[in-house]
Amino acid sequence: MVIDLHNHSYYSDGVLSPTEVVRLAKKQKCDVFALTDHDTIDGLAEASLEANKLNLQFVFGTEISAIWNNMTIHVLGLKINPNNKILQVGLKKHQQLREIRSEKIACSLGGAGIIGAMEKTKALAKTNMITCTHFAQMLIQEGICKDMKSVFRRFLVGKKPGGVGVKWAQFDEVIGWIRGAGGVAVLAHPFRYRMTHTKIKRMMNDLAINGCDGIEVVTATSSADEIILASQWANELGLLASTGSDYHGWLNQRVRMGCLQDLPNFEQAVWRNWTWQNY
Ligand code: AMP
Ligand code: MN
Ligand code: MN
Ligand code: MN
Repeated sequence: MVIDLHNHSYYSDGVLSPTEVVRLAKKQKCDVFALTDHDTIDGLAEASLEANKLNLQFVFGTEISAIWNNMTIHVLGLKINPNNKILQVGLKKHQQLREIRSEKIACSLGGAGIIGAMEKTKALAKTNMITCTHFAQMLIQEGICKDMKSVFRRFLVGKKPGGVGVKWAQFDEVIGWIRGAGGVAVLAHPFRYRMTHTKIKRMMNDLAINGCDGIEVVTATSSADEIILASQWANELGLLASTGSDYHGWLNQRVRMGCLQDLPNFEQAVWRNWTWQNY
């Protein structure tokens, strides 16, 4: 089975519409597919409709920003009930924080001589949500940076122009929103946080004791060593293992949806006791 539980549409920082993302999932031969836009569930209804038409197992998801130890981390909520009020209110709060942040980013970029940053960035977005990726793509389009890597080196981080911290909800609260909405909480891409292995493991342990269900053991950019290590840590901490590409669809990102290495141990798969329809 091809299972991809981490993907973005233009309701956050992906390029494709939910319908187009689901069609791509079918083309990439996915059997199970989750849409997990940052801090929103607005694309799920459309995606679910298309998935039903194409007879694709669709998982309702979201990727929620959270604070652990004063750092931003991402927690995936899988199989969430999109009608849950507490989840909806939490996500709305994060959307408001994003709006305030985007004004601050544009202002800071303006100070660095990049004029009209807000208008130019909004022109790239197809929905109300503005993410750092939109600002990054704007800086590439304007010829200021050549690729995403150089944008996030020169701008949008730390004390660089456009670097604006956000006080997202704490990780334990975010896990509460997800579990309260009947979902499964999974720490996304554990090796992408610029932390030492000791710190990653400490973070996983903190998440585990606060009700987190699993970690993303396999992502499109995982090395073989990272997969083995993450699987071992999951095992030690009693966490389940998830797999997802983190597909966004930008031309300058070379991630392919559904093209993922196998989990080292299928018994720890987050979907091990999920039941599939029409299978
Ligand atoms: P936001 O949630 O608006 O802060 O945006 C974070 C998003 O920016 C992440 O989900 C990634 O898609 C993207 N991003 C952050 N850092 C990098 C990086 N170094 N290279 C490429 N994309 C990045
Ligand atoms: Mn993203
Ligand atoms: Mn992420
Ligand atoms: Mn993501």
